[in-house]
Amino acid sequence: MKQYTYKININGVVQGVGFRPFIYTLASKFDFKGSVSNGSSGVEIYINATYDQLKQFLSEINNNKPSLSQIDNITYNKVDNQLFDDFSIKKSDDSGEKTVKIPPDLYVCKECQAELFDPDNRRFNYPFITCTQCGVRYTIIKKLPYDREFTSMSSFKMCETCEAEYNDPTNRRYHAQPIGCFDCGPKLSWFENNIWHKNDKEHVNLIDYAINAIKSGKIVAIKGVGGYHLVCDATNDSAVKTLRVRKNRPSKPFAIMTNDIDIAKNLANISPLEESLLTSPQRPIVLLKTLPEISKKISSLVAPKLNTIGIFLPYTPLHLLIMNKLNRPLVATSANISDEPLCTNLESLKKLENVYDAILDHDREIVNGCDDSVVMVVKDKTVMLRRARGYAPISIKLPFALKKNILAFGANQKNTIAIGFGNDVVLSPHIGDLGNIESVNYLASNVKTFNELYDFKPDIVLHDFHPQYESTKFAQENYNNTQGVWHHHAHILSVVIEHKLKLPVLGVAFDGTGYGEDNTLWGGEFLVCNKNGFERVLSFEPFLLLGGEKAIKEPRRVALSILFDIYGKKAMDLNNDVILAFTKNELESFYTMHEKKINSPQTSSMGRLFDAIASITNVCQFITFEGESGMQLEELFDENIKEYYEFDIVDKKIKIDKIIKSILKEKDKKVAVSKFFRTIVEIIKFAQRDYKDMPLVVSGGVFQNRVLLSLLIEEFPNIYFAQQIPPNDGGIALGQIAIMMESN
Ligand code: ZN
Ligand code: ZN
Ligand code: FE
Repeated sequence: MKQYTYKININGVVQGVGFRPFIYTLASKFDFKGSVSNGSSGVEIYINATYDQLKQFLSEINNNKPSLSQIDNITYNKVDNQLFDDFSIKKSDDSGEKTVKIPPDLYVCKECQAELFDPDNRRFNYPFITCTQCGVRYTIIKKLPYDREFTSMSSFKMCETCEAEYNDPTNRRYHAQPIGCFDCGPKLSWFENNIWHKNDKEHVNLIDYAINAIKSGKIVAIKGVGGYHLVCDATNDSAVKTLRVRKNRPSKPFAIMTNDIDIAKNLANISPLEESLLTSPQRPIVLLKTLPEISKKISSLVAPKLNTIGIFLPYTPLHLLIMNKLNRPLVATSANISDEPLCTNLESLKKLENVYDAILDHDREIVNGCDDSVVMVVKDKTVMLRRARGYAPISIKLPFALKKNILAFGANQKNTIAIGFGNDVVLSPHIGDLGNIESVNYLASNVKTFNELYDFKPDIVLHDFHPQYESTKFAQENYNNTQGVWHHHAHILSVVIEHKLKLPVLGVAFDGTGYGEDNTLWGGEFLVCNKNGFERVLSFEPFLLLGGEKAIKEPRRVALSILFDIYGKKAMDLNNDVILAFTKNELESFYTMHEKKINSPQTSSMGRLFDAIASITNVCQFITFEGESGMQLEELFDENIKEYYEFDIVDKKIKIDKIIKSILKEKDKKVAVSKFFRTIVEIIKFAQRDYKDMPLVVSGGVFQNRVLLSLLIEEFPNIYFAQQIPPNDGGIALGQIAIMMESN
């Protein structure tokens, strides 16, 4: 049979995952001559082979590809015949369109772990051990293709031994870009009492410093993969309390890191799916139901008042070395000032110098900051709440081709951005809340990173219609070709894309607030989304947020406003917890505020309605972190209570007065809360009656509520909800790009 020269292109996650050595070994097995190289659009292979051999080769690639790789597409074509001396791995070609997927940062693999704890290995106790199957990726990449010279490893010159491994196609560190050792790689340093300790070889020593500091109740900033953590001993009440006071974080739960899955199982109820998430190479924070015994094992200040806790397992060799010796759960929270981006270098960390007592640092630069990912499992389904380290950036295939390059700026909270080109959308990791200059700068740097990584220039720039969103302002100030997208429309379309649904759909968008078409704040919306946009077919009757932003922190204000709507001034004479939460003077001035609509925007938000219920049932009158009232209501839900409250619908508005009046009469708050949850389900059931032929899609931050989501999954087995893309505003950027499907 005649041999030809074939050129094979493979797209997907094929760089930084050991793909070229795999191809090299496979080609040797076939006795092929030719070459393999990384290009901007994936891996490029040339072989001289017969057609049958080619087919066999391709099927072996598909069947035996490296475990971390992901093949989206293999194409091949005959090219002019070429002669090769052997089969070789060629230098990367970085011309051409950049479509290769950037590999995420992953947990230490088994082989590297074995070496890490093997006293005879030259990388015994080396906190930066890595290979082609594990370690840092996205957070160290400056540009594509993924080669050492384009990463923050470029400043470390490999020693001879490392270089030999790096250049040996049969070695499992062949072209492992972050490769290093005690002699040549990144090094730890320790800062305490104003003194920096650096030592070249004895890293273990510095790790011991950290362990001793943690054991003695100190707060240590530890540099991780995408940023710093603030850590302290989770079993030490006073250490956790100190962290809360210094970070000015009175009650928002802290995540904890445990040595291993067995210790995690002593603290929380863990299903097989939750276990597989905890132990996956992505190592996210998994939100879990705590066991009653937890209060004896860790400080009750870690997650006060709540039965849920976020747990994650060590994900770097450094964490492993620390946790193995420390042998107790660690509070590990992102090092940042609230609403500011994660600290990724010493300069930004300095702002927290009143919080930490010491720093365990290292000298490998974090190029792209990346927070910990957060997931939960509801009814045996994974729901991604924050998509970041280990998962990001994610590339999503669109069911249609974009005619132009699109950049989408997302929302203002839990911001992410997205770029779209051809059939692909790449969604950035969690950028965070855009409340101040630092976070807007961080947004700008993410935009720059994405443009550079993908050699991307947008033709159209999309933003939320909210005129006050920093993301909107940034888009409008920096680009000409901008276009607005409605917030709740984007929420629904993000799920439409994730599940590859066809329009039209009935979308239920429940969230905190988003800007609506009538210039009021929406958030309890039923939208039929079709090729022409959307129609608001039903929504909650709006109420006022007394004092605007302030009402978001004070559920009592929302409840009071609704009571004024129902009872007028007489509400002040009611004997209930809402009224009791105010002084007489406050009631008078809020009444005037309500009457004259002073600084009191109108909203139909479901998130705020949850707040009102939390206030009326006296579960919480003030909140200290977003979503607090909803979480506390979850705890009160009793599944044995099956009743719901009557409600009226008038002129496409769901009236809330009947529901509120019924709740006011309820003696037991468990009953009130449980019936309220059931009422929401009934309302969705009612709304769906006229749209039975359309897929039912729910999206928005309110669907992070486990109770509500579980009830809906039970009631509507075919419901579509956000799983891989966050249901909260982290999914908005993807949903914005999705509006392009309408014009397609
Ligand atoms: Zn490894
Ligand atoms: Zn070395
Ligand atoms: Fe939203």
